Parts: sequence; C-alpha cells; structure tokens
Amino acid sequence: LPKLFEEAAPILKALQDNGFEAYFVGGSVRDLLINRPINDIDIATSAYPEEIKQTFKKTVDTGIEHGTVTVIENKQTYEVTTFRTESEYQDFRRPDKVTFVKSLTEDLKRRDFTINALAMDANGEIIDLFGGLEDLDKQVIKAVGNPSERFHEDALRMMRAVRFQSQLDFGIEQHTKEAIIEHHELLSKIAVERVRDEFLKLGLGQGFKKGFASFIDFKLVEQVPVLNVYEAELRRLLGINFLPANEVAFWSMIAVCCQLSLAKIRKFLVQWKNSNKVKEEVLAIVELFDIMMVKEPTNRQLYHYGLTTLLQTIDLMRMFGEEVNATLLVDCYDQLLIKSRDELAIDGKILIEDLGLRPGPAIGQILYEVEEAILNHELENDLKAIKNYIELGDFHE
Ligand code: ATP
Ligand code: MG
Repeated sequence: LPKLFEEAAPILKALQDNGFEAYFVGGSVRDLLINRPINDIDIATSAYPEEIKQTFKKTVDTGIEHGTVTVIENKQTYEVTTFRTESEYQDFRRPDKVTFVKSLTEDLKRRDFTINALAMDANGEIIDLFGGLEDLDKQVIKAVGNPSERFHEDALRMMRAVRFQSQLDFGIEQHTKEAIIEHHELLSKIAVERVRDEFLKLGLGQGFKKGFASFIDFKLVEQVPVLNVYEAELRRLLGINFLPANEVAFWSMIAVCCQLSLAKIRKFLVQWKNSNKVKEEVLAIVELFDIMMVKEPTNRQLYHYGLTTLLQTIDLMRMFGEEVNATLLVDCYDQLLIKSRDELAIDGKILIEDLGLRPGPAIGQILYEVEEAILNHELENDLKAIKNYIELGDFHE
C-alpha cells in the first residue's frame, strides 16, 4: 500500500479492534487504482459517531448529523463516516435525513458512480460490488443502479458525471448519458453553490473538452444561471488550445468567450455565488485583456494591474489564439522602478512637513505625477531627486 494508506491503516485497525467494520472508500480508492494523486482519505465504518469518538483520542465533530467525525492521527486528518443510506430525498436535492446502517453494501449502494463505490480494507483488498473495477478499466462513468432514479434522488449527480469525465478524461456509459439528457431539467433544483463547485472542477480537469462538450450536449448548460443563453459562444471553448490553470483563469475564460461586458461579468459571478476576491480578480484580468487586445499596455497600466494579473491576462490571450510577447511585457514590468505606492520614496507627510505644502487634494495630484514620472523612467525613485523635481516643477498652488 502507498504511504498515505499505510499511515491511515491504524485507523481501520483501531475500529476493527473495537469490533467494528471499517474500510477506505470513495475517491481515494478510485484514485489509487488509476495512479492519480490522492486528495483525502475517506473511511466508512459500522461504528456510530459516538463510538468513533470513543475509539480515538483526537476527533472533531465535522458533520455529526451526516455521521461524519474527523479523526486526527499523526497530524493527519481523516473523515470517518458511519455506514449510511440516504432517505427522504425531497425536491431532487440532497437528502434531509440520513439513516445509519450496519452494512457496507448499503453504504456503497447509495454512492453515485461505480468507480466511486469501491472500498478497500486494511490489507489492500478491494471490495467491488457494482463492477467499479471493470468500469475503471473501461474508463467509463456509470451510475450505481438505475441512473434515472439516482438522478431523481440527487440531480447534482448529473453535474458530477461530467466533472468526473473532465477530471479523469473518461467516457460516460450509455444509459447514464441518456438519463442525464432525459432529466437535465432537474439540475435547476440544485443550489447554485453546489453546481458551481462541480462546474469549476470540470473547468480545471485534464479532460476539459470532453466534460465540457457533455455539459453542453447533455443540455445541462440550459439549466445554469446566465450561461444558459450562451450555448453557441460556449461551444467555441471546445476548440481552445490551452486549459485554464486556476479558478480565476477559468471564470475569465468563460467571461471572455461569452463576450460579457464588465457589468455583466460582475452580475454573472455574483449569481454564481463567487467570492468578492474571485470577482475582483476576474474583472481586473478582463479589463487588462480588453486593453491589450487594442494596444500595448502603458507602464501605468502594468503598475496598476500588477504581475499576477498580467500573467493571467497573457495566458488568457493565448487561450484565444492571440499572439503576445510575454517576455517583453514581463521585462517592462520588471523594469518599473516602483511596483506599488508604498515603494515611492516620498509620501504626503514629507510633502507637507519638508516642502511646506498645504494638506488637500493637491497632495494626491503631486504624488500621482511623481509616480507617473517614475513609471515613465523620467525620474529616479530617490527622495532628493523627487524633491528637486517637485521644486522645479509647477506644483505649488
Ligand atoms: P474528489 O477527488 O474530487 O474529492 P471524490 O470522489 O472524493 O472526488 P467527493 O465529492 O469528495 O468526491 O465525494 C466522496 C465520495 O462520496 C464519492 O466518491 C462518492 O462515493 C460519494 N458521493 C459524493 N457526493 C455524492 C452524491 N451527490 N451522490 C452519491 N454519492 C456521492
Ligand atoms: Mg473527496
């Protein structure tokens, strides 16, 4: 077993020593079998949450109502969840009640896809009740049980299918695919945050084109806010040559592809419940993108947007087939004598105290002009030189 699982094996053993069953389950088992980097190790057990807590010294109640306790061992955390079924699905959303059960079989049955319904014991023995191994081998995503029923229980699974397709670069099994097309409308019932999380994972997957093509072809796109009316534009992304490197790059790519105005982008990102940070970063990138599509950015613009935004914008332009001289732009940025206002050798206080200027809006104007001269390499960022420049200049009221 790989190191991560070796380290986690004592958790399974401790539960077994107390008379419970315990297994590795879900994504980590799948990823182990296909040599993908492993995120987090999930454990399923017949022990109830209280019993899990009694078995280990350090635990945190992360999701007791779902039966999940986080166990901390050797500074690692493990999510340990009681075998459960999900009952009383309402409105095609996540169940509002979970029922603890005593068998692994019941627990695996409620999982979304066969490749996610594999379990592994402490000796590395795989438990495969739904043909997950074969589907891993065939590289297909297939619902556990009847796909229509499973998507009625929780419509998010349709988004999960296309996001796993993108992440794993797999196909989608025929009946599973047909059921998504048939039931795509159910996706509108799902909270946008949950859809967003899956959409973003789709956007950053190695098999992006495959997953995104399915997202459109299976009509899921028709059920998401704002983008539902941009199907034709979004289809253009299927011809793109570079993949987005991160969250902000992904949203910028979508925004540019749909040719959304800055005001519309703002609304779009809010509707998709993105954080302010993501929103502001995307807006900065698209602003600079719009500038650079027309002409070289000025030094002032390079300074204003900063290196991170510049690099993201260069990536974005390349994504849309624009040629950019990245070396030249980055050189220009590197040669800026100051990278931010606090690097300026002078400030308002010095202007007032040393040069006897009166406090007021003129101070800001002078600082701006000094900054401008430094950005344009007409002035050194040196206190003496700046004072001299101000005294020679026509700045005094
Ligand atoms: P990732 O590497 O992205 O974390 P994962 O397979 O671990 O992939 P999670 O969303 O973390 O995905 O879910 C963990 C496991 O829980 C899944 O492998 C699956 O067995 C089960 N699961 C999660 N969400 C659902 C769902 N909506 N319906 C059914 N089973 C689910
Ligand atoms: Mg996971």
